[in-house]
Amino acid sequence: MNDRFVPISAVVVDDETKRDVLAVLESGQLAQGPMVERLEAQFRALCGVEHAVAVSSGTTALVATLQALGVGPGDEVVTSPFTFVATLNAVLEVGATARFVDITPDDFTIDVDQLGDAMSDRTRVVMPVHLYGHPARMDAVVQVASRAGATIVEDAAQAHGATVDGRPVGSFGAGCFSLYATKNVTAGEGGVVTTDDAALADRLRVLRNQGMRARYEYELAGHNYRLTDLQAAVAVSQVARLAEANARRAKNAEYLSAHLGGVPGLRLPSIRHGCTHAFHQYTVRVTDEAHLDRDELAAALAAAGIGTGVYYPRTVVDYECYRVDRRVVAGPLPEARRAAREVLSLPVHPHLTPTDRERVVAAVRAALGS
Ligand SMILES: *Cc1c(COP(=O)(O)O)cnc(C)c1O
Repeated sequence: MNDRFVPISAVVVDDETKRDVLAVLESGQLAQGPMVERLEAQFRALCGVEHAVAVSSGTTALVATLQALGVGPGDEVVTSPFTFVATLNAVLEVGATARFVDITPDDFTIDVDQLGDAMSDRTRVVMPVHLYGHPARMDAVVQVASRAGATIVEDAAQAHGATVDGRPVGSFGAGCFSLYATKNVTAGEGGVVTTDDAALADRLRVLRNQGMRARYEYELAGHNYRLTDLQAAVAVSQVARLAEANARRAKNAEYLSAHLGGVPGLRLPSIRHGCTHAFHQYTVRVTDEAHLDRDELAAALAAAGIGTGVYYPRTVVDYECYRVDRRVVAGPLPEARRAAREVLSLPVHPHLTPTDRERVVAAVRAALGS
């Protein structure tokens, strides 16, 4: 056995990326410019939408979108409690109230059967999270949101390239993508908003640039949400090869599922019919049937040289700073809390070698005594 550590994610920079970055360095145009435009064109094609607006992060993509929609104090955003904290922080940043609906145990996304009850005349936005790269049940989200007159803002930070019945995530309303270091497409830091709504895209472009329409013509109090050409240059060749990289992720996931089936106490991820899973993460559950708990399995795998991740160890509402915030509204959320106890993500990234995959399987089986 070789003892190279198998990391949970890996950034591999190819020659094309180096060339793109060098070209930007030599152009003298380091801030937002033509490379950002190239990236935006790629995201329009990826999502099949009319507009893409690159911003400084996935978080600012969410914040700017809510601001551009005019969401603020007194308005409610209905979303999932089992997510990265940025989903909640974005809602609070604009002064709105976050109302949480539990997740479905099948794929960790928002339980659409409970969505209707959460809607009220204060609901401005429904914000599904395509967690781990698996799309939320968008047919039902679209139905509930349109009946309530709410806008859909997809937290697609983990789901570049995922589809539902052939339709890309990020095309159902406003799609918010992250280009953070560990995501399926990375610029180190960065984000993109995708939409077919021309007015929304226009407001986003003005907002991201200090509220400036033309040089020193301010029409609202904006911000600096811009992405740089240097960052965009890191991402463009990855978007060009996204389908290939996601296919490698899917192959790795298929391998893991084929070889980890039937292990007692281990529940494998499933893909809802009609969906393409972007496999940002391959996330198993360690159930009560196992003789180890989730943290013990993670420790055993670390000892065997296998990196894992717990996304996420608590629901976003289970922190003191949010518990005391009256703009955070949540019921008991049993499925989200159970998931937080049970989930463990195994390496699935496109740079795994066949040996890496074999070692992951062997280590999991050995730890669970199967
Ligand atoms: C990464 C992430 C974000 C935030 O993106 P950043 O680029 O890190 O700001 C938001 N939501 C989810 C679900 C994420 O995974």
